[in-house]
Amino acid sequence: MRIVVAVLIFAALASVGLAMMRSLVGRTPHKPMDAPVAPPPDVRVVFWCENCGTELLLVRRGSEAAPRHCGESMNTREEVGRAER
Ligand SMILES: [Zn+2]
Repeated sequence: MRIVVAVLIFAALASVGLAMMRSLVGRTPHKPMDAPVAPPPDVRVVFWCENCGTELLLVRRGSEAAPRHCGESMNTREEVGRAER
């Protein structure tokens, strides 16, 4: 009788554990990444933080969303270079 109770308890705990693992796996985002896009060669994209003044020069754009700094989205500034002669 003890063995039957032990097996039933094990089965109940195992099913609860597996259900928890499945729910964790189901929440993992499997969104495909967008292909990185480089800005045009004569355009420099600079992100700057309004709070602390940090500036980031963007070399390759991974998504359309601006990076975050000091807990807020950074501002975007595009600088068009002059054609060299
Ligand atoms: Zn900042």
